Amino acid sequence: MPTLDKSSSNKASKGAEEILLTQIKQEFTTPAEAIFDYLELVEKNLSQLNLVFEDELEQIKNGAEKLIEQYEEAFKENTGPNATKQTKSPEEYSTLRHNLRTPLNAIIGYSEILLEDTEEDASDELTSDISSIIDLSRETEKAIEKFVDYIRGALSNDSGEGTSQMETAEALFKSLGSIDYSLDIDENLQNSDILIVDDNKTNCEVLERRLSLQGLKCRTAYDGNAAIEEVKKKTPDLILLDVILPDINGLELLKLFRQDHSRDALPVIMVSAFNDVDSIAKCIQLGAQDYLPKPLNGTILLAKVISSLERKLFREREKELVNELHIQATTDQLTGIFNRRVVFDSLERAYDDLIQGNSKGFSVLTLDIDFFKKINDTYGHSGGDEVLKSFANNLNDKISKPNIVGRIGGEEFLAILMETDQQKIVELCNNLRKEITEKSVIYEGKKIKVTFSGGTANTAESRNASDLVNKADERLYDAKKSGRDKIVFPDK
Ligand code: GH3
Ligand code: MG
Ligand code: MG
Repeated sequence: MPTLDKSSSNKASKGAEEILLTQIKQEFTTPAEAIFDYLELVEKNLSQLNLVFEDELEQIKNGAEKLIEQYEEAFKENTGPNATKQTKSPEEYSTLRHNLRTPLNAIIGYSEILLEDTEEDASDELTSDISSIIDLSRETEKAIEKFVDYIRGALSNDSGEGTSQMETAEALFKSLGSIDYSLDIDENLQNSDILIVDDNKTNCEVLERRLSLQGLKCRTAYDGNAAIEEVKKKTPDLILLDVILPDINGLELLKLFRQDHSRDALPVIMVSAFNDVDSIAKCIQLGAQDYLPKPLNGTILLAKVISSLERKLFREREKELVNELHIQATTDQLTGIFNRRVVFDSLERAYDDLIQGNSKGFSVLTLDIDFFKKINDTYGHSGGDEVLKSFANNLNDKISKPNIVGRIGGEEFLAILMETDQQKIVELCNNLRKEITEKSVIYEGKKIKVTFSGGTANTAESRNASDLVNKADERLYDAKKSGRDKIVFPDK
């Protein structure tokens, strides 16, 4: 008994085995060789239409030659009297299948491009001939599958049922006739930056052409290290990542990217000919957003690329919106500084910290602009508004973290000062008053002098946050009563 795996040799006699082998080979060679016939027809048709697509035709032809050459070699190596006797590991079978299919990427990819590029000028005949090349390629793909299944002894005997099911499915899709389909890309996605990582230049070219046709921008990297460099230069909007690369494998690379970038921030679609469920599941578990089987189907490619890009765009918009809402909820509309809510929430938190022993204490300063009504009366409400804005921003510039300040009412403000030394509080507040009153506000060319009164209170003299603010307010009232333009501090 020659070459075959035990499992398959158990199934059939030598004669039957030979017939099966011949059948398996024919299932491949018949469509593979027919590709050349159709290619010739396409070539003639194109030249009649005065269309030049030399490069594409050359790529398809080279692909078809390579396809047959590799198959012949693998067939010789794995069947007949000269076959290697050793059974291969599952990975080796996967690799063999992957290698045998690789030329299909160029054949199908360039044929699909040809179909699209000639869409407007082509005759029905030309379109149908190019489509035949794609159909034949898919047939060889099935035949390769069957061949590899055969040599690993996994070809099932009940393939008859499978075939009939497949035929029904084909009939089902055929019954739909030709489907009008086009994909619109949101203009916000048009300038998306896509990094294609594949060591096979043809694959990169096919992908790049397909995606650029839709207005997407592409970069390419032919190995893992080049991909790392490209991502460092600028984080792309999407990576199409080949699983098998010469230096670092695609899965390791994916793991590496996930250390610094989340799924949402850097979507990755794995591209590979290992299209078994386990590999796909692994890619998803490692943080890939999706998976594309080779040879690529143009429609599925674009659908997946666009859905990944859309998802990223929507996530970013969502974040911006949440950010904007947060700013709106925490900002005083007129002046742009913190609003009442932020100041009082911070005050409660600061008091909690104190109670839990995480801080030693702090002070508050409440302040109120003097004679603000007069400012409104003299310069109008909008003049008053300008004074408020300018006053608030001066205050905000002078009070920095961990201290905070906000507008709590019309012309009233409250600051939290994280300082326990009373002497320092006095210095800080008096300096603040001096600096702010020195600056006059310019409104419609006129200088407006603004003073304020204030009162402080500290945590050593109060029971809770509202007690603290009440004490500061009482002192602010004292400051107003005793002539304004001053700050009243706690008695020693
Ligand atoms: P005092 O020195 O005692 O604080 O006198 P005052 O005039 O500053 O205080 P009062 O509380 O009597 O008047 C405050 C005025 O501030 C009344 C109100 O119309 C005005 N005001 C409140 N909010 C705004 C605002 O957003 N813009 C403007 N332009 N005025 C405002
Ligand atoms: Mg006032
Ligand atoms: Mg007031």
